[in-house]
Amino acid sequence: MHSENLPENPRMNQNDKNEKKEFISLQAGPRDHAGEGLRGSLEVIVGSMFSGKTEELIRRLRRSQLARQSVQVFKPRIDVRYARDFVASHNQIFFPSITIEEPAEIFNHLLPQTQVVGIDEGQFFSSDLVRVSEELAARGLRVLVAGLDTDWLGQPFEPMPQLLAVADVIDKPRAVCVVCGSLATRTQKIRIDDEPGANDPVLGGENVRVQVGGRKEYEARCRKHFVARVDAATPDPNDFVSEFLKESPALFKTPQMQNDEASV
Ligand code: ADP
Ligand code: MG
Repeated sequence: MHSENLPENPRMNQNDKNEKKEFISLQAGPRDHAGEGLRGSLEVIVGSMFSGKTEELIRRLRRSQLARQSVQVFKPRIDVRYARDFVASHNQIFFPSITIEEPAEIFNHLLPQTQVVGIDEGQFFSSDLVRVSEELAARGLRVLVAGLDTDWLGQPFEPMPQLLAVADVIDKPRAVCVVCGSLATRTQKIRIDDEPGANDPVLGGENVRVQVGGRKEYEARCRKHFVARVDAATPDPNDFVSEFLKESPALFKTPQMQNDEASV
């Protein structure tokens, strides 16, 4: 995708827009031919938030496109975190998608030439996702579904467990625990003291299971550091450094950088 086609990210400020985008590596991975050879298959990618599910989904979709396969991607209406008409990863990798409410809507949008169907945030769909995915695979399509396997209370997040049971290929990427640095399999909900309604279930507070969020609301943790309740956010020393850099950028410029700027 060309960078000029990237959607506006409402959370980005002007400085962020100028930052270099991160790119995904399209090198072959251990799973690349797992479902591709099958005539009709269901591949499921599960894990905690930040584990790289969307990144992996997009990587497989892009490789399918390189193989000249026709691809369509769907996501639930509830997920408008970074972009409305794109599946988006936390590190700003995008792939165009169609927004739907019910899994069966996929059949209304499905083009005759489509060979690969990608679905992100599977946990936000009804249990009909299982029937629809199976039906698509039965029609000979390669179906890729990414989603959270557990919610922020550590409980299985339906319908992902049911989908895992009927999948041909399963992958469970892991994030980094922000407390100890080991591999993280859990999504920790963190307190947002500065936002009104943070503790009000009606306003999307701590008793709500489905709360779409990002880095401000959740963090990745390992089994040892995960607690099945809202917890204080783990301090990030890098946030301090980046804030400080924004305040006093000149302090961090090498003489060469200052010379370069002066000569422009
Ligand atoms: P998911 O779809 O599983 O929520 P994404 O694919 O959207 O994950 O994002 C993965 C990216 O999130 C990583 O490549 C990394 O840049 C970023 N990230 C932020 N916090 C973490 C963390 N604690 N562990 C791993 N990656 C993280
Ligand atoms: Mg994701």
